[in-house]
Amino acid sequence: MKYYSTNRKAADATLEEAVVKGLASDKGLFMPYTIQPLPASFYEGIEHLTFQEIAYRVADAFFGEDVPADTLKDIVYDTLSFDAPVVKVTENIYSLELFHGPTLAFKDVGGRFMARLLGYFIRKEGKRQVNVLVATSGDTGSAVANGFLGVEGIHVYVLYPKGKVSEIQEKQFTTLGRNITAIEVDGTFDDCQALVKNAFMDQELNEHMQLTSANSINVARFLPQAFYYFYAYAQMKRAGKADQLVVCVPSGNFGNITAGLFGKRMGLPIKRFIAANNRNDIFFQYLQTGQYTPRPSVATIANAMDVGNPSNFARVLDLYGASHEQIAAEISGATYTDEQIRETVQQAYRETGYLLDPHGACGYRALAEQLQPGETGVFLETAHPAKFLQTVESIIGTTVQIPEKLQAFMKGTKQSVPMSKDFADFKDFLLLK
Ligand SMILES: *Cc1c(COP(=O)(O)O)cnc(C)c1O
Repeated sequence: MKYYSTNRKAADATLEEAVVKGLASDKGLFMPYTIQPLPASFYEGIEHLTFQEIAYRVADAFFGEDVPADTLKDIVYDTLSFDAPVVKVTENIYSLELFHGPTLAFKDVGGRFMARLLGYFIRKEGKRQVNVLVATSGDTGSAVANGFLGVEGIHVYVLYPKGKVSEIQEKQFTTLGRNITAIEVDGTFDDCQALVKNAFMDQELNEHMQLTSANSINVARFLPQAFYYFYAYAQMKRAGKADQLVVCVPSGNFGNITAGLFGKRMGLPIKRFIAANNRNDIFFQYLQTGQYTPRPSVATIANAMDVGNPSNFARVLDLYGASHEQIAAEISGATYTDEQIRETVQQAYRETGYLLDPHGACGYRALAEQLQPGETGVFLETAHPAKFLQTVESIIGTTVQIPEKLQAFMKGTKQSVPMSKDFADFKDFLLLK
């Protein structure tokens, strides 16, 4: 499969080139030339398949031409060694729990898949070391770091905004050591993202070392996120609830929802999507006005969605031929203040007993507000509430049990490299590597 750049100025890339480069040379995002619909027979029997079986069919449609079947199957099965159950919250609202992986958030899927796929390409070609740069507002860093931990031939640099991620999140990528280096940037998430983007564009740096991205701009990270939309549909079909399915995605950089949109293109019967934002409502504003106006992110209690210029907006535009009308026909928006998020976590807990995390709360609330008669809603519960312990405990007024996986991270010792937000400093640091 060939990949083109959303800016249409760079040469086409193979899958391997797209994965190794991350971003196209014209700063565009890679898109596959074809999105292969899956046959009707697949959808007819989907409720009888396991998560791994479903995911392999989807992976085959994306990557089957470029990766041998056995290898691809191994990668998929190894990536999805945990479940993503759909749990009923109210009569017509369900939670797709994506927090049963190693770092208890959905990004484990893309992080692990990408690590395995890149590892395969490096082994196959006997390539020189590849250096992964990843900017994180919290969860990406831990998912990518844990996905890549110990993968030979790859070093990971995680850039994160000082003081703006929770202690538990920070521990998940600053305590690993080995091939993982955490860089604590004196700035915002957008500053971290800018440092990474500048590094990719810097010729001297790129001659010095092979750089790639593991943010959701990388096709190997974002496409595998389509897997669980299919699995959610299968579970809803099994429950006899799949007829008018509305899927709501708490969104920041828009990688997650874009993968769902790809699923719909492949014939997955999802009626429509809702993108739920926190106060960083750039996409919400775009839906209302047709104008896309990025602006600096503001800090919220759903911090993994504090994004002021969502990278994958370029892919959404591309997918719909830049038609605002078509985008607004399939996706609606929502935006919530911290106050509203708190209110939602508390109310849902009190009325249903279900404990939301601040991100999932945006998704749940958007469904509660926007679902039409006859529709069934599934929101993506993107992280375990214990990852936002202080916030969640202060809202519900009781203690939250911390899963063992998280407790293990808390015991580690933080190690990080302090960094200013000036690109020159970051570049000097990398040139010494
Ligand atoms: C990353 C993240 C999001 C946002 O996902 P995008 O793909 O960036 O839109 C939402 N919730 C949590 C918990 C996350 O970690």
